[in-house]
Amino acid sequence: MIERVCLVHYNEIGLKGRNRSQFERRLRENIGAALAGMAAGRIERLASRIAVRVTDPEQTDRVACRIAEIPGVASVSPAYRIPRDPVAMEETALVALRSAGSFATFRVEAHRSNTDFVECSMDINRRIGAVLQRESGATVNLSSPDVTVRIEVVQGSVYVSSAVIQGVGGLPVGSSGSVVALLSAGIDSPVASWRIMRRGATVIGVHFSGRPQTSDQSERLVGELAAVLERSGGLARVYVVPFGELQREIALASPPDLRVILYRRLMMRVAERIAVVERARALVTGESLGQVASQTLENIAAVDEAVTLPVLRPLIGSDKLEIIAVARRLGTYEISTTAHEDCCTLFMPRTPETHARLSTVLEAWGALEHERMVQDALAGLEWLDYGGRGYRPPSRWPTAAGSSGGSVVAVALAAGVGGGGAQAPRGSSADDATGAESAERS
Ligand code: ATP
Ligand code: MG
Repeated sequence: MIERVCLVHYNEIGLKGRNRSQFERRLRENIGAALAGMAAGRIERLASRIAVRVTDPEQTDRVACRIAEIPGVASVSPAYRIPRDPVAMEETALVALRSAGSFATFRVEAHRSNTDFVECSMDINRRIGAVLQRESGATVNLSSPDVTVRIEVVQGSVYVSSAVIQGVGGLPVGSSGSVVALLSAGIDSPVASWRIMRRGATVIGVHFSGRPQTSDQSERLVGELAAVLERSGGLARVYVVPFGELQREIALASPPDLRVILYRRLMMRVAERIAVVERARALVTGESLGQVASQTLENIAAVDEAVTLPVLRPLIGSDKLEIIAVARRLGTYEISTTAHEDCCTLFMPRTPETHARLSTVLEAWGALEHERMVQDALAGLEWLDYGGRGYRPPSRWPTAAGSSGGSVVAVALAAGVGGGGAQAPRGSSADDATGAESAERS
């Protein structure tokens, strides 16, 4: 019997003992969650591979492309699964070769994961290669063939495929804890968020909107970006902070050249407070060294001084063109380049400080009622849940400085299950009734 399956390969380098079984379990669970509603059946763990049964053969490529987007997947082959029968191997190899479109040359690449199969890999290559050459008229080219037919003998079955889809690599989401990412509607921060998800972290996004001084266009774009990012399974929740009033307050009270640094320090403080509640261990930004005036080493240091959590900058050494290439691949570029006002450009001074002295920044910061401003920001929070793997939403919300146990407004919401967008659970820290009701239910 011929079955269609997607054969998933992952990078095992550095995976040993318990790590390895956890990695495989998580990856299996994450694949299962990503394929909900698609034509996929049983997900089996084989020797160093995962096989996903496809219930509608027509959908095999679609299922394979979806699997390739999941962090931890190195590659996926849309394959045929057959019994260990020499004749079936030949017939299926021919079907696989013919499904590869137009070609003039091919090669056969066989692997055995068990040595109890009588033929060695070389013998399989020769036998199947001769049949394919005779039946298709194509010639063998071992160094750069148009098509490679892979034959993998794994446990009790043989897997035959003629295509490989490159996966995103990395680690399964859920293996690296959570982070809070500062998510603008620009090009860089969605890419930074995705990079950190790919390393297995669950991301909680925080977007600072210029509302009420600007429209909510950036919020809508962040919603669209989130819908793309959630495909990796690593996006748990996105908070929106209306920030326009606080920026106006900074602009009125502070030296113009320091405004951007002060906005950023306040953003970091608010993000850190959210991270405490979310039990997140680091903050993430999309900065790249020297890309714009605010991204000099001096300014980065003057902003980081506002927080104690580590600040991760996955793009710090990337050029803009490299970041754009990733954004295009991910599907975020079009959204990020849609016209919108970023809150950082509100009340922008003509000559922002590029090499801030920490003592000058601290003096201006000390003149602000920054703790009250953080509380104002937290009081205006709104959020939307996405289907982040393994995410447990916080059941308490701190209103006291830096504490997770002080006076609380309960904000427990049911964890979002896939879908995101308009169907995802929403909330706001002003919405006491919703909080109290869901706290009772939980
Ligand atoms: P991006 O494309 O991510 O907006 P950028 O090159 O425009 O990056 P900046 O505007 O200087 O850079 O922002 C640097 C980083 O600060 C962003 O990558 C993001 O992490 C954070 N940031 C900036 N604006 C916002 C915002 N409105 N909400 C949340 N985070 C923001
Ligand atoms: Mg920006």
